[in-house]
Amino acid sequence: MTSAEKPVRVRFAPSPTGELHIGGARTAIYNWAFARANNSTFILRIEDTDPERSTEENKQIILRAMKWLGLDWDEGPEVGGDFGPYLQTERFDTYAAALEVLKERDMVYPCFCTKEELDAKRAAAEATEGGYSGYDRTCRSLSPEEAQVRIDAGEPHVWRLKVPLDHGPVEFDDAVYGPMSFPIDVMDDMILVRSDGTPTYNFAVVCDDANMGITHVIRGDDHLSNTPRQVLIYEALGYDVPEFAHLSMILGPDGRKLSKRRNATSVEQYKEMGYLPDTLINFLALLGWSLDGETTIIDRDTLTKNFSLDRITKKDAILDEEKLDWMNGIYIQNMGASAWVDAVAPFLIEAGLCTAEDIEQNRAWFEKLYPLVAERMKRLTEAPEKLAFIFDGPNVTLDEKSVQKNLLKEGCRADEVLREVREILADESIPWECDPLQDKVRELTEKLDLKAKLVFQPVRVAVTGSQVSPPLFESIELMDRDDVLARIDYTLAEVFGA
Ligand code: GLU
Repeated sequence: MTSAEKPVRVRFAPSPTGELHIGGARTAIYNWAFARANNSTFILRIEDTDPERSTEENKQIILRAMKWLGLDWDEGPEVGGDFGPYLQTERFDTYAAALEVLKERDMVYPCFCTKEELDAKRAAAEATEGGYSGYDRTCRSLSPEEAQVRIDAGEPHVWRLKVPLDHGPVEFDDAVYGPMSFPIDVMDDMILVRSDGTPTYNFAVVCDDANMGITHVIRGDDHLSNTPRQVLIYEALGYDVPEFAHLSMILGPDGRKLSKRRNATSVEQYKEMGYLPDTLINFLALLGWSLDGETTIIDRDTLTKNFSLDRITKKDAILDEEKLDWMNGIYIQNMGASAWVDAVAPFLIEAGLCTAEDIEQNRAWFEKLYPLVAERMKRLTEAPEKLAFIFDGPNVTLDEKSVQKNLLKEGCRADEVLREVREILADESIPWECDPLQDKVRELTEKLDLKAKLVFQPVRVAVTGSQVSPPLFESIELMDRDDVLARIDYTLAEVFGA
């Protein structure tokens, strides 16, 4: 079978070194969307060969971020699959087997050069006009017998690839970058297996991609220079070379490389900043790919139906924070009350406004908060501030500026308005619902001969504490009558000494 005929299988292969970087998340999204668009298999492989950083906790961080984004994998940790294990540290026997294959094919040789020798060679080469162009292949000319004697004597050695010297340029057709060609003489005899027996990245990744039947390698363009090396390893092992698609960088709004100091860089951070997973999927998908060059709201369904490699651009993508906020606002508006409650719950709890049990027991009430703010927020983090007043029971924190402008302004008659409104709100014959209460209060404009604003704003300040709030009577409906009356009484006493 040629690679074009094989069932499509793609993988996301993060090294668990900390949080999931948004560049990594975009790579994951592209692989996932490509797999879904082709009704094929998306594999998660954990490249955990760095013993210091590849902790269980770091692996869990990746899995959590993937699940939060809703990027479900068909094979990998927790779900298993026919091509496992899916952690590189559990695949060492496969790398050892591949090394044996390469030995048999005479495509590798042991190298006994010490670090000191290699450093000295490099320094000497760098001092010449041609500069350093890789390992000078000293050990390649050792006879097999001589090499074996040294191995048997326990001399430390690495295994290097015998790059075929008569090979023409290494070529591949990148789905994003187009035809790529690398002269063979810049390819040094790279190390495949270190002296402690561990595989190098290039070796492990080729063994895994080949053994897992990966047909398309979609990854960051920081790996573009590794690819010709990997092509040589595929060829040495006699494997088909997959298709490659290298993704350009994501730059910060200032056009500079994203940095932890200047930017939010991890999925976790975006979550904490109040962005929705749906927003991030849409937003990151568009950092380097487009549906038709103009559509900006692309939900998961549209993305997974239409994603294709040929619409990926090689231009660096700029992360536009304003667009991200705008897009999140759209997703919040469209998500519906139930999903909103789930998403906003941690923020309300964190702000101390309620507990998880409160939400569980009064879910219907919490869902009614959604229309109060759905069209007025860009990030979930804004919810506690906008809604805090509702959770204050009989208490209200009066904003000084709002009091001055709406209660104490000359001629505004706010004390009179508040007393009249209090009477209406205390009248139990009026249903405690937005419309009837609001209609009654509106009648005051005629009775008192005041503009609507002069009636409603004092009530807003007395009940919510501020002249800016979610819709007033929709909010009042969700509050307790006694609490609302207590707030008006408090305001009258506090502001007018009445
Ligand atoms: N583990 C590599 C990384 O995190 C990915 C390798 C690849 O996709 O080939 O950069």
